[in-house]
Amino acid sequence: MRTGKPLSSPAQKITSFLSAITDFFFPPLCCICGKVSDKYPFLCAECLHSCTEFAEAPDTAMLHTEHPADDVACMYYFDEYIQKLVHLLKYQDMPFVGECLGERIGRVFRDKPAAGSDILLPVPLHPLRRRERGYNQSACIARGIAKIWKVPVETRLLKRCRNTQSQTRLNREERQKNIRGAFQLRNIKKIPERICIIDDVFTTGATTLEIAGLLRESGAKQVHILTLATPRKDQ
Ligand SMILES: [Zn+2]
Repeated sequence: MRTGKPLSSPAQKITSFLSAITDFFFPPLCCICGKVSDKYPFLCAECLHSCTEFAEAPDTAMLHTEHPADDVACMYYFDEYIQKLVHLLKYQDMPFVGECLGERIGRVFRDKPAAGSDILLPVPLHPLRRRERGYNQSACIARGIAKIWKVPVETRLLKRCRNTQSQTRLNREERQKNIRGAFQLRNIKKIPERICIIDDVFTTGATTLEIAGLLRESGAKQVHILTLATPRKDQ
C-alpha cells in the first residue's frame, strides 16, 4: 500500500510495487457477496448495511424477570449476514472481523451508559479453546469498541476455569447448569466499579448473566452486557 512517505530502500519499493499490482489484479473481495470490497478487506459497504442493526435488549433477555445486569443490549440480529461474519471470526482465523464490527458497535452505543464503563470485559475462553483458535473472538470485538470509547479492555480479571461443553444443543436450564461455576475472578480486590461484559452472541444469556452475577457478588456497582448479535424470537 502507498503511504505517501519516501521509501527508504529498494526492497521496500519492490514490496510496495508488488502489493499495488496484487491489489489491482486480485482486489480484496467481500466475504458475503463476492464483489470487490470497498469498506473493509472482507466486507463491502452494501453488505455491511444489509446486516440488521438492532441495538436494543434481546428478545430472550425479556424472559428473565430478574437478572444481575443493569442492562443487556445487542447490536445485530443473528441474520444470514451476521451468521457468516461470526463464522469467519470464530472459525476462519479472521480476528479483524471482530475489531471492525466492534468499532461499529462502539459508534452506535457511544452515548449509552455502558460507554461510561471503567473496563470492557470480554467473555474469556478456556485456555485450551483459546490456544486452538489463536485468539478470543470476544476480545477482538472489545478491542474495536475500546478504540471508539477509549475504555481499556481487561483480559486478566476473569478466567474460565472449566472447559464447558458446547451450549448449542442445550435449553436455557441446561445452559445455566452447564456454565455455573465455570468462571473465576483472579483478583477481587481490584474489581472496577463499572464493567461492560462483551460477548459475540447472546442466546439465552446463560454465560454473560453468570459473569454478571459473579461481578455483582464481588462488589461491581454497574454491570452492562453488550453483544454483537442475538437471534430473533422465532429463530
Ligand atoms: Zn458484499
